[in-house]
Amino acid sequence: MNNIFKNASSYWVKYNKYEWRTDKDNVLFLTPADGSELKMYNPMVNYKDMILEALNVGIACMNKDTDKEELKNKILDFVQHYGLIGFMTALPTTPDFITYNDVYLPKNHYIKKERLSTKEFLSCFFPFEEIDFVKKKLESSWSVTDASVGALILTLKNAPQAVLMSFQKEYAERFDWLINAFSDLAFTFFSSFLYYQDFDVLDEEQKDLYRKGMAAFGSVAPTYHIELRDTPVIIWEFNSLLLQIQMMLSLMITDTDSAIRVCRNCGKAFISRHKNAGYCSKECRDEFKNR
Ligand SMILES: [Zn+2]
Repeated sequence: MNNIFKNASSYWVKYNKYEWRTDKDNVLFLTPADGSELKMYNPMVNYKDMILEALNVGIACMNKDTDKEELKNKILDFVQHYGLIGFMTALPTTPDFITYNDVYLPKNHYIKKERLSTKEFLSCFFPFEEIDFVKKKLESSWSVTDASVGALILTLKNAPQAVLMSFQKEYAERFDWLINAFSDLAFTFFSSFLYYQDFDVLDEEQKDLYRKGMAAFGSVAPTYHIELRDTPVIIWEFNSLLLQIQMMLSLMITDTDSAIRVCRNCGKAFISRHKNAGYCSKECRDEFKNR
């Protein structure tokens, strides 16, 4: 079967500059920097680069020896390339949660409560300036503070309101949550990678652990529609970058033509057509052999 994401398009928004900021409770957040500008892009175009970068950030997050400043820099780099990952719309049962009084949360690694009021939930993502959000029964509105967000809303008029809210400059995501999300991705990848790489030496109990780890990964399915452009194109409505990353990673893990491998020398993830490739580059191979 052809790659279902081949003639496909999607969108996400990134700012050209982000910064770390702590809120009044000393929680560290990543948020668009003052004076930064937003840009819409299609994450499908270079999705393999995006997934590799996400995995390599995840590998660093899983490594207990990585120092905090280094992690902050790696996450900042990723977010400057691809934008914040969209926890606000990825976590609830529906990205249309804004239309309800309460937000319902399936089991997740970030918020323990199963239900929060919509206002309480929004406050997790707007720690610096409270969003001017008004809700009367099913009707809700919020004031857009930035002209470019206003223009974006016109372009993306079918997107859920919460997705648009997450593109505001005041929107922020927690450092510890980001670490968790990237670690999860790397953990999932390793479950699959090590299962096959070490198949002959793993005992049944270890294999079962990997299978269970893998089965726990998965998510809600995105919705889609078809647009008649030069050729018909599937437009995927992921509603969060996190869901896009999860789907693309799943696709790459199950792709039998090319494999994500881990370099024996530098420990980074890379893509190879050869199932047994051990090194990301000739330099790494030479360096490893001369150790
Ligand atoms: Zn390497």
